[in-house]
Amino acid sequence: MPMAATKRDYYEVLGIGREASAEDIKKAYRQLALKFHPDRNPGDEEAPKKFKEAAEAYEVLSDQEKRQRYDRYGHAGLNGTAFHDFNSTDDIMSAFSDIFGGGLFGDLFGNRRRGPRPGPDLLLKIEIELLEAARGTTRTIDVKRQDFCGECNGSGARKGTVATTCNYCGGRGQIVQTRGFFQVATTCPACGGEGVRITDPCPGCKGAGRVPTTVKLQVNIPPGIESGMWLQQRNQGELGDVGAPRGNLRVQVQVKKHPFFERRRNDLYCQVPISFAQAALGAEIDVPTLDGPDHLNVPRGTQSGEMLRLKSRGMPDISGRGRGDELVEVVVETPTHLTARQEELLREFAEIEHKQVSPRRKSFFEKLRDYFTEEAEPGEEHDD
Ligand SMILES: [Zn+2]
Ligand SMILES: [Zn+2]
Repeated sequence: MPMAATKRDYYEVLGIGREASAEDIKKAYRQLALKFHPDRNPGDEEAPKKFKEAAEAYEVLSDQEKRQRYDRYGHAGLNGTAFHDFNSTDDIMSAFSDIFGGGLFGDLFGNRRRGPRPGPDLLLKIEIELLEAARGTTRTIDVKRQDFCGECNGSGARKGTVATTCNYCGGRGQIVQTRGFFQVATTCPACGGEGVRITDPCPGCKGAGRVPTTVKLQVNIPPGIESGMWLQQRNQGELGDVGAPRGNLRVQVQVKKHPFFERRRNDLYCQVPISFAQAALGAEIDVPTLDGPDHLNVPRGTQSGEMLRLKSRGMPDISGRGRGDELVEVVVETPTHLTARQEELLREFAEIEHKQVSPRRKSFFEKLRDYFTEEAEPGEEHDD
């Protein structure tokens, strides 16, 4: 029986008074079970302990007879009473299925099935480069998961010994409860339906029947994968019950930031600087693409910020429907260091230029003039 020397008071565990009604006890326990359910507190080592502690307190206080004995004699009064030996969350869930039934946990955590349960999913993250995402790649990853112990073949019992019949269910692996007119059979929470308990545990796995291992698995990443997408390998996750499949391995792919390219759906966006003269006169420039450098025609009179498009040079569509485009935003750079000759030419240029006005500047100056004349309209109030 799993009775530690120092145990917290069951009423304290559930946060209720000694006069609490059966309904209060149920309510308090449901709240605690929801709060400390290991599925909701991944990585928190305290949560499973609290979850188990609450289950134990509930087991006693929800039972009229056990509660009376506990009230009178404390923890000592329960010596010799049948107890659940909760080994996992699922044990607790199935032991108290009546209060978790009705959709409470079913809705939150997926329906718990009876019988051997498949293992939980394993979640991993891997990072790849944008070019790898474009071409597709493979990664070999180390997956830490459990395997059946080779020493005892997963039985948990020391080699040469056998597990003994579970006294909670009498070896049937099921417990039958009467609910009104019905008899309901549930998996024995003490032995997990196996009908046996281990008295002489295997030293290799300390009776758990399973040991941690690391396996190398290959993950194939398809071309066109987007950052944040999940890939799933069926039955490569954590070990389940004997006779049930492993959970799935789910790998989330993160695509690293690229120095030039930014993905926008299947298009690739980048910025390319051009000179003021190239923008005005037009030019053929070199631009980076996924397939290496390529030529891009910058038409005469291109404005800074204009987007030019290289057809089908973007990312491949993950479902194989062609490729996106490459979008090149040209950024016109204003020269900062001028040679004497350049300055001479530019000054000459400026002199001629202010006699003719470009279409865009013309419309800008017209708008500016309209703005000021509106502002200056007499009789109107402006309070900014
Ligand atoms: Zn073992
Ligand atoms: Zn049993």
